[in-house]
Amino acid sequence: MDTTRFDDEQFDRAAVALRNTLNGIAITGAGISVESGIPDFRSANGLWSRYNPSEYATMDAFLDNPDKVWNMWYELADTLKGVKPNSAHYALAKLEEMGHVKAVITQNIDALHSHAGSKTVIEYHGNADTMVCPACSRRRGMDLSQRALGAPRCECGGYMKPDVVLFGEIIPEYALKTSERLARGCDVLIVVGTSATVYPAASLPYLAKEGGATVIECNTETTAFTNAVTDIFLQGLAGETLPELVRRVEEANL
Ligand code: NAD
Repeated sequence: MDTTRFDDEQFDRAAVALRNTLNGIAITGAGISVESGIPDFRSANGLWSRYNPSEYATMDAFLDNPDKVWNMWYELADTLKGVKPNSAHYALAKLEEMGHVKAVITQNIDALHSHAGSKTVIEYHGNADTMVCPACSRRRGMDLSQRALGAPRCECGGYMKPDVVLFGEIIPEYALKTSERLARGCDVLIVVGTSATVYPAASLPYLAKEGGATVIECNTETTAFTNAVTDIFLQGLAGETLPELVRRVEEANL
């Protein structure tokens, strides 16, 4: 990898901030999993160019037409099948192992942080491995075998829903409260691959900043966070910038 194109000053400041904390956290979005082959909302030819999330990934859409939402879901499940963590997920797991990051709050539903070895992961929008019945709250493992029949049914007669937070649903209490507490109390926050547009997750960096945290943002492009709360901007693919950051923290620790 050509490391000469990294902004040394920004990377060194980020490495020093991380090296000096045992109270860092990370917040991640779809961008961190793009290099694992899962498109974010912006990828030109991705799933989301055919299924507008505001039309297909909403609770209203599910209630109006569960089969329509499951059409998209079955295709997303195909995309998620067999995906593996990339070097950005491993870099965050390494920072946790080193003690500099104590939790990862992710908006992603792909479980790749856990697969990479991160121990404390808050899945803010749930996880694609299970489904839930909104009528009776029964949960069971994701079952894709009945896809020809459309939306899977629950024993109670209702329709099962992927156990993820659709637009229009509230964030589960545990994830919401724990994430707020972590954001308010951290002294370094790494924000990776999120467009800063999906609330309430997008409010967390503002809480961290209010609490006095140093905010390190890793993204291929600037976002609404960049001018508002970001102290250090590491521009580039997360699969390259995060390993480079870990390398510099390790070097600084020697
Ligand atoms: P988004 O799609 O709105 O934005 C992605 C951000 O990542 C953009 O700012 C983009 O510039 C950046 N990015 C893209 N590739 C990158 C890379 N290789 N390295 C660094 N940055 C990169 O994503 P969001 O803000 O997370 O909002 C999308 C919502 O949809 C979230 O709620 C998320 O739960 C869900 N979603 C999840 C997945 C997943 O589980 N992998 C995938 C798509 C969407």
